[in-house]
Amino acid sequence: MRRLAVSLRHAHNVYGGPRRYFHMFVHNGLDEMRAAALAYNGDPVEDALAVCQPAPVRERLADDGETWEQTEPAHFGGIIRFVDGHVTTEIVAHELTHAALVIYRMDINPDVRLGNGCRLREEHLAYITGDLIGAASTVLHDAGLWS
Ligand SMILES: [Zn+2]
Repeated sequence: MRRLAVSLRHAHNVYGGPRRYFHMFVHNGLDEMRAAALAYNGDPVEDALAVCQPAPVRERLADDGETWEQTEPAHFGGIIRFVDGHVTTEIVAHELTHAALVIYRMDINPDVRLGNGCRLREEHLAYITGDLIGAASTVLHDAGLWS
């Protein structure tokens, strides 16, 4: 397994917002990736070729002593897991769509009208984005414009 990192200070925060980063793991096989993903947050990913796992939301007792409130998970957005031999433009774009939505929820608005995590509505968006970027990159590559 290779461990990489990606981080950014996105354009929305040009005035000093927090840097956000993800760990990227490139696993040696599907079984290794799926076992690591399950161990991280308990969500099974039996059919996935890659996965984006947002950092766990932490909660603390609010000042009123009765309610719980979410705390900001520092600068860490989560983990993106790829598998060697399955790193394609479509898959990378798909997982980075999830990562972008993690950052959007952290820094801009927790309500993106796609639910509150990597669930079905967000999956549809990620697949559409991955397919579009994959198709566009092929056309641009064939035209000698994709670098
Ligand atoms: Zn997905």
